[in-house]
Amino acid sequence: MVVRIMAVCAAAVAGVMGTVVAAPAQDYPSRSITMIVPFAEHGPTDVISRIVTEHMAKTLGQSIVTENVVGAGGTIAATRVARAPNDGYTLITGHMGTHAAAVSLYPNLPYRPDTDFEPVALLAGTPILIVARKDFPAKDLKEFIAYVRANTGTLNTAHAGVGSVSHVSGQLFNQIVNIRPTGVPFNGTAPALKALAAGQIDYLCDQIVNVVPAIKAGAIKAYAVATPERNPALPEVPTTAEAGLPAFQAQAWNAIFAPKGTPAPIIARLNAAASKALDDPEVRRRLLALGSVIPSPAERTPQALAQLVKVEIDRWKPVLMAVAP
Ligand code: ASP
Repeated sequence: MVVRIMAVCAAAVAGVMGTVVAAPAQDYPSRSITMIVPFAEHGPTDVISRIVTEHMAKTLGQSIVTENVVGAGGTIAATRVARAPNDGYTLITGHMGTHAAAVSLYPNLPYRPDTDFEPVALLAGTPILIVARKDFPAKDLKEFIAYVRANTGTLNTAHAGVGSVSHVSGQLFNQIVNIRPTGVPFNGTAPALKALAAGQIDYLCDQIVNVVPAIKAGAIKAYAVATPERNPALPEVPTTAEAGLPAFQAQAWNAIFAPKGTPAPIIARLNAAASKALDDPEVRRRLLALGSVIPSPAERTPQALAQLVKVEIDRWKPVLMAVAP
């Protein structure tokens, strides 16, 4: 009898252990990983994330399944990942909006980018471009600015939701040139770009990765890149300084984050896989062709990303407090 009771207890303990205790970190990953992308498919966050995670999956020996969770400038997705189990199987490819600027625009943001996540790795820097519908009546940035100032009441500008990169960089641009166009939100800048190419939207400030093919195909116009240097993917597009608006400087970024408390060995494995992907010639070729800036090894560490998030939260606060809602 005693033996039977002990056997039952042992089985109960084993059952509990089996369901509650996670597989040890050294076995990670033992099943597929979900990568949450907070914007629509085919947009810059989605494209960067998929290029890198496709390679990471090979290194890790498990598939990485992308799930696009859209809405509220990416903050719905980030909230979900902040609350997900911290076992390394749910990650997010966030960006300068979800993991920095949103803090200044959502008074009740349900997560804190700097304390509710484990930074994994910076994937890409993404210069911001000012782009417009292909028949926009301005031949260069100076004419563009004159036109938008004269017609601000009738203009539509697109963005990917409050706090998104396109929203905050668009707000910065509008503030600098002192205009208040109508903002039209989309679930990402892939659908915004479609609307721009169809002439339903007048202009947009977006991450370069989204717009290079459309500019090259002549489907939209590019007026300037908001970085100190021209971008090798679009060498004919002037910088904002060259085109007469040096005050408008903007470069965004995309990075992988895990929920807070994800074990350090798991973060290290993910970081190593991401860094290996960024050293792969084919991954680099694809990212560079779209105008991304590939981070140096020193910029790819979790510590460097933690620092970037802090700096960016602080950098956007005064800017976004000054801009129109
Ligand atoms: N570029 C977008 C943004 O404005 C998001 C996306 O579609 O990746 O934040």
